[in-house]
Amino acid sequence: MTSTISVTVWGEFRHEKKNPKVSSIYPEGMHEAIASALRRAPDLAVRTATLDEPDHGLPTDVLERTDVLVWWGHLAHQEVSDAVAAEVQRRVLEGMGLIVLHSGHYSKVFKRLMGTTCSLKWREATDKERLWNVAPSHPITEGVGDYFELPQEEMYGEPFGIPTPDELIFISWFTGGEVFRSGATWQRGHGRVFYFRPGHETYPTYHDANVQRIVLNAVRWARPTVRIKDSAPCSPPLEPLPPAPSS
Ligand code: ZN
Repeated sequence: MTSTISVTVWGEFRHEKKNPKVSSIYPEGMHEAIASALRRAPDLAVRTATLDEPDHGLPTDVLERTDVLVWWGHLAHQEVSDAVAAEVQRRVLEGMGLIVLHSGHYSKVFKRLMGTTCSLKWREATDKERLWNVAPSHPITEGVGDYFELPQEEMYGEPFGIPTPDELIFISWFTGGEVFRSGATWQRGHGRVFYFRPGHETYPTYHDANVQRIVLNAVRWARPTVRIKDSAPCSPPLEPLPPAPSS
């Protein structure tokens, strides 16, 4: 394992082409905003990939070289091929890290890895979001205070149809009164998964310094410790076995 972490930021890249409000906030695309913040870290090598590229920008050789995959999707979850979703799942089980952002909660890759509905309540209105750091000693919250606020965000509310997280990192409160498990981790096979809620496309959330720090912390936390190919071999004995009983 090299010291440089190879990161692929995957973006659906559809809202930016349809909605001038989104493209004014993210002129190069949301994936490029997320990636450019990560590129400031000297220990990361960052590429991007988008839905409309061949293999959604995730051919075998790219996934082979990816230590941590960051995923943002919303409009077109169903256009992600089952084959690519299955391949991403397999890579996570082998050890690749996965960071799922915002509406990626309904992506094929996240639902496959969680095995649950991943449903939630939502509202696009005038809520403020306050994210409480409930794991102040966790590497993902390094440099983050007790809480931080995003002045405008979409509301996501409980119940969130996820399996009980291995670790709960953030809990969000919204102006309308709802709360939400907005940062959570799971181990899946040999890979680490982090879900992080903020990031609705019509707000400048990925320009926020706390959000950028948390995504960077999460990438470092999720880097693989091993990459172990799945196999189920017939195994020879380590010691001589007694003879089979005569029939
Ligand atoms: Zn949204």
